Amino acid sequence: MDHLPAPSNPSAPLPEIPYLCEEEPYDDGDFLTYPARIGVPQLSSVETAIILRAWESKNPLGDKEVEEFLQTWLFFGLLHEVLGKHGLYDVKDHVEGDEEGRKSVHTRKLMVRLRRWTEILRSWDEMEKAKELRHLQEYLILAREGHYLVLADHHSKCNRAVVWSLSVILETLASAIDLAFVGPTREVTVSTVRTEFSEDETQHRLRNGWCIHEVLAAQKEFSSNIAKFYLLRMRKPDLGLDHGDCGADSCKKLQIDLPTYRPRHITEGCNCDWAGPTPREVAECLQGDTFPVLRITGDALGDVRIEVVPYVEGMVYVALSHVWADGLGNPAANRLPRCQLLRLKKLVEDVRGGKIVHVVDDGVKQAPEAPLFYPDPARQIFIWCDTICCPVQATSNPLPLEELMALQSKAIARLRQVYQQASHALVLDRSLEEIDFHSIDRVEAAVRVYTSRWIRRLWTFQEGGIAKRLLIHFRDAIVDHRTIWAAVHHDAAEKPEANTISLRRHLTTHCFNLRSWFAQKNASIDFRGPVWSLCWRRVSVPTDEALCLAAAYNLDMNAASAQPKDQRMQEVWRQLVATSRGISAFIIFNALPRLSAPRFRWAPSSILQTVKRGDILEFVFRNVEDESGSLTSSGFRVNYSGWRIRPCGPPGSFPHGLVSTNEPDRHYLRDAEGHWYSVWEHKELRPGRNVRLNHLWDEGRGGGNRQWHIILDVCHKDQETVGRRGLVTTSEPREGEQTIHHSEMVV
Ligand SMILES: [Zn+2]
Ligand SMILES: [Zn+2]
Repeated sequence: MDHLPAPSNPSAPLPEIPYLCEEEPYDDGDFLTYPARIGVPQLSSVETAIILRAWESKNPLGDKEVEEFLQTWLFFGLLHEVLGKHGLYDVKDHVEGDEEGRKSVHTRKLMVRLRRWTEILRSWDEMEKAKELRHLQEYLILAREGHYLVLADHHSKCNRAVVWSLSVILETLASAIDLAFVGPTREVTVSTVRTEFSEDETQHRLRNGWCIHEVLAAQKEFSSNIAKFYLLRMRKPDLGLDHGDCGADSCKKLQIDLPTYRPRHITEGCNCDWAGPTPREVAECLQGDTFPVLRITGDALGDVRIEVVPYVEGMVYVALSHVWADGLGNPAANRLPRCQLLRLKKLVEDVRGGKIVHVVDDGVKQAPEAPLFYPDPARQIFIWCDTICCPVQATSNPLPLEELMALQSKAIARLRQVYQQASHALVLDRSLEEIDFHSIDRVEAAVRVYTSRWIRRLWTFQEGGIAKRLLIHFRDAIVDHRTIWAAVHHDAAEKPEANTISLRRHLTTHCFNLRSWFAQKNASIDFRGPVWSLCWRRVSVPTDEALCLAAAYNLDMNAASAQPKDQRMQEVWRQLVATSRGISAFIIFNALPRLSAPRFRWAPSSILQTVKRGDILEFVFRNVEDESGSLTSSGFRVNYSGWRIRPCGPPGSFPHGLVSTNEPDRHYLRDAEGHWYSVWEHKELRPGRNVRLNHLWDEGRGGGNRQWHIILDVCHKDQETVGRRGLVTTSEPREGEQTIHHSEMVV
C-alpha cells in the first residue's frame, strides 16, 4: 500500500503484507479462468461470477486459503491482466524479502507502471480502446465478486493487511481505468466493494484522538477504500478530551449544556475578568436594519477594551465561525474573558494580511509576498462574534423580557446578512488550531477541515457557506479556503492520479456542498448537496435546526424565528414548498421521523441522521426533474397511482421454495392480471403507529370495513418494479362523519 497517499505523522506504520503465493504463484494465465484452473467452479462468463459466493458458502475456505487464493488471483492476477500485455508487470516488482527470508508485498513501483500504461492506452484508437475497456470492466466485475469472499462475516479473522491490500489495489486499478478512458470527473468502471473498519481498527482510531461519532460520520462521507485507509492512519490532535461517553450519533464533547457552560480562558489557570458590552448597548446596535460589530483595543489584559458599534456599509469586519464547545461562547452574558479578547484582536490583525496563506499561481505563498488584504494600518477591521453580538440577558440592568426576545429574534433573522456582508468568515476550531499548516500537504489540510469538529456543527454550515471568503485558522497560519479548494479540485482535474482520485472526489463533494452550492443562484439546483453536508452535523439546541435550514436555504428568517420553537420546522417546510424549486412529491415515501402537525405529517421532523438510518435520506430530496407536491389546506398534494388491496388465501401456485413462509414482514400481492409482488415492510417505522399489513389479514377474517390501498412510487406498472417504495393507506368510513384516512407505512 506504499503507493497510497498518507497523512503526516501517521498513527501506524504501513502494515506488512505477507507474500502468500510462494508455493503457488500466479500462473500468468487468463484472469477469468484462474479459479477454474485451481478447482473452483468454472466461470465461463462474468454473468456467472455470482456463483463464486454461493460456491464458497457451500465449500467454505479457511481464512488462510481465502487470503492465499485472493492475493494470487486478485492482486497478482489482476495486475498481470491489466499491465502484463504491455510488458509492465513482473511479480518481482511487487515482492521483496528481508534478511530472514520472509517475503512481503509492496506497491512502490505501481504508480510508475500505471502512468506508463495510461500513456500507452491513450495512444490507441477509439475502437481498440472501447474493446479494452469492455474487457477490463468485465474483469473488474469478477474481481469484485472475488473480493466479497474475504469480506464475508465468516472470514472476519482474515489478516487485515491482506484485506486492505486487496481493497485498495482494486480501487486503484478501477480509478486508473477511469482516468485512462474517461478522465477524472467521470466513473465508468465497476464500483469496488467497500471495506468497513474492523472493531480493532475503530479502537485504534479512538486511541488516536477520534471520537466514535467522528469515526462513523467520516466513514459515511469518505466511503472509498483509499480514503478510509487514509483516515485509519490519521491522528487527531490530543485536546485532552475524554470521548468515553460519546455515542455513535453524537459527540458529547461538542454538545454544550447551556446551564453549566462557561467560557474558557486561553491558558489553564488564567483568572482574568470578563469584559463585554451591556445588553442595552447591543440592543441599540440592532435598531433599524443593522447589527453590531466589535472594536477591540488595548494590548494587555489590564487595558483591553471592547465596544459595540452599529455596522454601516463600507465597514470591514471578520465574522467568527467557532465551535462553542471550545470555549468562545457564553450563553449567560455578552461577555468573554479578557485573554480571549486579546486573542481575537491579534487574529484580526493577522487577517489584515500578514499571516494569510493563499494561492498565488500554482504554488502556495505566504504573505507578505502576497498582497495584504488591508495594508493601511489605520483601517479599522471589526469583528463579529455571536457571543457578544446576539443579545443575552444580563444579571445587572436586565432588559425587559419581551424586548430581549424580540431582539434575539431580530439578531437571528440577520445572521445570513452578517455572514454575507463580512469580508471574511474565520473558522476557529481547536482541532485545527493544533495543526501546523506548513507541516502537512494541502490534501491533508482539506481532510482535516472536512473531518474537523467545526464540520460537525450545524450552525457552522451556513456560516462557512455564505461568507464571501472563508479563512481557516491553523496553528501557524490563517489559510484561505480557496487554497484548499485549489488542492482538491484543480489539482485533481489537472494532475489526476489513480492513487488519490477517490479521496479527492470526496473532498470535491465536500467543497462543493460547503461553498459552491451557496454561490449558485440557479433555481433548479439540487437540494440534496447541503442535506448530505448537514445530516451528520449536530446542534446543541434541537429547535435551532429549523433556523439553520432557513438560513442555508435562504428562506425568510424573520418568519422562521418568529414562530414558536416547536413550529419552526413546519414553517421551514412550508417555505420550502413555496420556493421555485418546490419539494419533490416523492417525499411522501420518506421513512424519517415526521412532524405530527396536521398538513405536515409528510414532512421529516429533522434531517439530521443517525448513523444507522443515514441511507434513508436520499428519499427526502430527489432529482430536480421530479414532480413537486403542493401544500393545500388539507395537506401535501401529490399525484401517484394506487391499488386497492384485499386479503386472499396464501399463494398456492408458486413453485416450491420461492415463497418464504417464515418472514413475518414479507407479504405477497397479486394484481388482476396475475402478476405477483413481494412486499416487504420497512423495519424502521415509528413504533406504535404502524398500519401493518398483518392487520389487513386480521380484518379480512374479522369482517372489518376499512379499505386498504397501496401507493407505489411509480405511476406505471410497466416501469421497473424491483425495489420500489410504497405507502399502505387505509380509509375508514364512519357513519355521519368524515372518512378517516391513514397513510402510515413504507414498504
Ligand atoms: Zn466525542
Ligand atoms: Zn483569561
